[in-house]
Amino acid sequence: MAGTTARFTDPGVKLHHFADEVLVRCPECGGCALVLARLGDECEHRWIGDQEHTRRRLRCGCGHTVDAFPGSRAFGGPADPYFRLPLWLDADCRGRRLWAYNPAHLDLLEGYVGAGLRERATAPASMTLLARLPAWVKSAKHRDDVLRTIRRLRATVPPGLSAAG
Ligand SMILES: [Zn+2]
Repeated sequence: MAGTTARFTDPGVKLHHFADEVLVRCPECGGCALVLARLGDECEHRWIGDQEHTRRRLRCGCGHTVDAFPGSRAFGGPADPYFRLPLWLDADCRGRRLWAYNPAHLDLLEGYVGAGLRERATAPASMTLLARLPAWVKSAKHRDDVLRTIRRLRATVPPGLSAAG
């Protein structure tokens, strides 16, 4: 666990960096499902109107699977950017919502919030994910609450959940 003297440098990533694999609430069973944005060999593009759409997949351990070509991606807010399903990693934190796309996203938030010394990305950092975090997440006053919520969320991820298999 990062102490208050730990140094943390913004790696400069944006939200879409975490959008290849998003944990969502399955519309069939209510469990934890995956939205996969990169399908490797099965990747397929279609032109719908004048927009190119890419195949995305919803997959759940209950057997529910959906392949679709959703429209323009909408990043931001507690929903996956493709199917607009509610995120699995979404919790109340003292009356505010703390959410993440996947465990790697949680790790970044935890490293940042837990660090006492935060450094900006060396690259032009105007709109990195961390630069865009709301002030209450960054506030030292809320650090313990935010870290506790992050750990609580991580504990809800089913073991072995990943894109493989
Ligand atoms: Zn399901």
